[in-house]
Amino acid sequence: RLPLLLTHEGVLLPGSTMRTSVDSPRNMQLVRSRLLKGTSLRSTIIGVIPNTSDPTSDCDELPSLHRIGTAALAVQVVGSNWPKPHYTLLVTGLCRFQILQLLKEKPYPVAEVEQLDRLEQFTNQLKSEEELGELSEQFYKYAVQLVEMLDMSVPAVAKLRRLLDNLPREALPDILTSIIRTSNQEKLQILDAVRLEERFKMTIPLLVRQIEGLKLLQKTRKPKQDDDKRIVAIRPNRRINHIPSTVEDDEEEEDHDDVVMLEKKIRTSSMSEQALKVCLKEIKRLKKMPQSMPEYALTRNYLELMVELPWNKSTKDRLEIRAARILLDNDHYAMEKLKKRVLEYLAVRQLKNNLKGPILCFVGPPGVGKTSVGRSVAKTLGREFHRIALGGVCDQSDIRGHRRTYVGSMPGRIINGLKTVGVNNPVFLLDEVDKLGKSLQGDPAAALLEVLDPEQNHSFTDHYLNVAFDLSQVLFIATANTTATIPPALLDRMEIIQVPGYTQEEKIEIAQRHLIPKQLEQHGLTPQQIQIPQVTTLNIITRYTREAGVRSLDRKLGAICRAVAVKVAEGQHKETKPDRAEVGEGEDCKEHVTEDAKPESISDTADLALPPEMPILIDFNALKDILGPPMYEMEVSERLSQPGVAIGLAWTPLGGEIMFVEASRMDGEGQLTLTGQLGDVMKESAHLAISWLRSNAKRYQLTNASGSFDLLDNTDIHLHFPAGAVTKDGPSAGVTIVTCLASLFSGRLVCSDVAMTGEITLRGLVLPVGGIKDKVLAAHRAGLKRIIIPRRNEKDLEEIAVNIRQDLTFVMASCLDEVLNAAFDGGFAVKPRVEHLNSKL
Ligand code: ADP
Repeated sequence: RLPLLLTHEGVLLPGSTMRTSVDSPRNMQLVRSRLLKGTSLRSTIIGVIPNTSDPTSDCDELPSLHRIGTAALAVQVVGSNWPKPHYTLLVTGLCRFQILQLLKEKPYPVAEVEQLDRLEQFTNQLKSEEELGELSEQFYKYAVQLVEMLDMSVPAVAKLRRLLDNLPREALPDILTSIIRTSNQEKLQILDAVRLEERFKMTIPLLVRQIEGLKLLQKTRKPKQDDDKRIVAIRPNRRINHIPSTVEDDEEEEDHDDVVMLEKKIRTSSMSEQALKVCLKEIKRLKKMPQSMPEYALTRNYLELMVELPWNKSTKDRLEIRAARILLDNDHYAMEKLKKRVLEYLAVRQLKNNLKGPILCFVGPPGVGKTSVGRSVAKTLGREFHRIALGGVCDQSDIRGHRRTYVGSMPGRIINGLKTVGVNNPVFLLDEVDKLGKSLQGDPAAALLEVLDPEQNHSFTDHYLNVAFDLSQVLFIATANTTATIPPALLDRMEIIQVPGYTQEEKIEIAQRHLIPKQLEQHGLTPQQIQIPQVTTLNIITRYTREAGVRSLDRKLGAICRAVAVKVAEGQHKETKPDRAEVGEGEDCKEHVTEDAKPESISDTADLALPPEMPILIDFNALKDILGPPMYEMEVSERLSQPGVAIGLAWTPLGGEIMFVEASRMDGEGQLTLTGQLGDVMKESAHLAISWLRSNAKRYQLTNASGSFDLLDNTDIHLHFPAGAVTKDGPSAGVTIVTCLASLFSGRLVCSDVAMTGEITLRGLVLPVGGIKDKVLAAHRAGLKRIIIPRRNEKDLEEIAVNIRQDLTFVMASCLDEVLNAAFDGGFAVKPRVEHLNSKL
């Protein structure tokens, strides 16, 4: 009597060991109540019936059982609860049996069995060895041949060789069948072959097949021989036959094919000689490497990348300057200077094919179209475009890749970009070069030097590739908000093209020509559904945005389109209903629902997309509805309603800005307090301003509260620069501080429409400053009328559009007297100097 373990995968043959997973209820019961509870040796013996249909499908009915099974010794039971409760059994086959009668089915089947292979049978059969002799001799020969094809140095194989001699011949067919690669079906046939003779006969073809297979393998894969031997060799030792061996076989074949393919690709690819050499060396290594080694995957990835890189693939430039000019003009309004320089660049490129020209770097506030010009350049050239965002990159291996020794190493962004675009002459836009970081991992700016230097970049070496790649065909364009933070060495390799902010008029044109059509398209609207007139655009520009570029204008337009899209969708919905409700938008919506198409005509054609109140006209009321109350007021005059306030002009990477400088005085001990996050230079300007005023107090009749010309006598001064959280620095606030303090001490108001900029010296001279165009545009945006700038900055005014210049009055100042005269209504009286300076030379 034997309890039966029903397996559905794997066939246990006498003399071999198998690991099997137990999870069906019957088998679990058997393990729990017999194997785990039993203490005697007997209780560990079970009958293993192979080839039962999947036990989970039929729980109650005992499936039909295979007639013949293997009595087995349960050697090990391992339980686990994950992912579901199951046991793993290690069983060793003892001998065949045949089921005579099933005794009970529950909780686990028990049957009366008859042992088939008996020891005495063996001995009996010894006599008949003559008959069997030939067969078994033949079998033995094959077995020996097979084992000898394996690597004898592996201990398991050596042991197997010894086993062949020591074991009784009769046991060999079973054992060898379970060692070599056979399907479950074949094993089942062997199990069913009760007669020895039959068993020998059936096993021999299997052996022959295995030998042939091995021979073939050795022929095709000489270098990988070791590997195979080891795999085959380990198998007999552990005798785990879970994975159907055919699958594994296929995989190996596939991998092998892949490597051969890869080699072919490498040989046919057009990589440089040096790269080819490296690749061939690597592929040689790859072939010898067992696949399980981590390095195998690394090397393979590397080789695949090398094959994929566009060593010699490029797109053909279709460069026609006239077409390029039209395309650039179509894509972008204004930015004449930038477009001119880009066209020059392209023209030179057309004349001379490989241009070792400088790298263009567009510098300007955000949203002025730097990135989109880069994209247009790629379009005009018919080249691929790839943007590499450098903001925050602080590791040089981001640019240059990691060495391949690191786990997870990969090529840098340049090489990666080339792989992505698949050609070796794309336009690479290095976005935000001014925001490169620096860290312990090296300086990415230094790595960029090599990339951007036309003299060097034909042999750019990525750490990962470790061979040179020619970047000279790549057109690099960089963008930045400011040149101040670009490392000098990098700056030196680039040609800076300033892209200043836009004027209101330019912004209106950009909005009407580019932004509005783009937004309409993005929101699925048509000009028949929404109209944004110029005044509205101007309103958005002046009251809802204050920026140099057009990005937030673009966003506001997007918000309007969204709001209108809701209306249009609602309208469509309403229309399909027979009873059209009143337009539910509140009173103030009346105004922007101006045109009312005839409802009758529309209800006739109910599937028409237009709701009746089309087109929706966006006027100022609608603007307020959608965007909320205006964020900026044009009027700045009320801020200047008391003495001690003046308007300065500041330059930031985001464009120009106007800045109110405030001063107040109080009783004290002559201290100066500065607030508003000022840098050192600005603090010095404040001290300079006070010193100059103190020394000129008499001249201007400036007195402190108690009427003394010593301005700081018993007086404290506090200077504040609003937007206190923003760090400010630079010398250009000098004149503003002087004006502000002069107003404070004289008690007179500074003109409310005057803004100023300029550095001062201790002697009262006004020195030139930078960023005049941005500053002027900012003043114009803020609605100021008169601008005081240093005389030596006069030349910068030429860059400013005529219409803006016409709106403003410029005062050129070379000394502070002129500044003060212009800043106060009716001038700032100077008491004529009595003494004349006499030359002492
Ligand atoms: P940046 O790179 O300078 O920060 P982007 O190139 O991203 O700015 O530009 C922002 C948006 O403004 C883009 O959608 C672009 O099309 C639009 N834009 C900017 N300037 C112009 C212009 N002169 N003509 C047309 N569109 C413009």
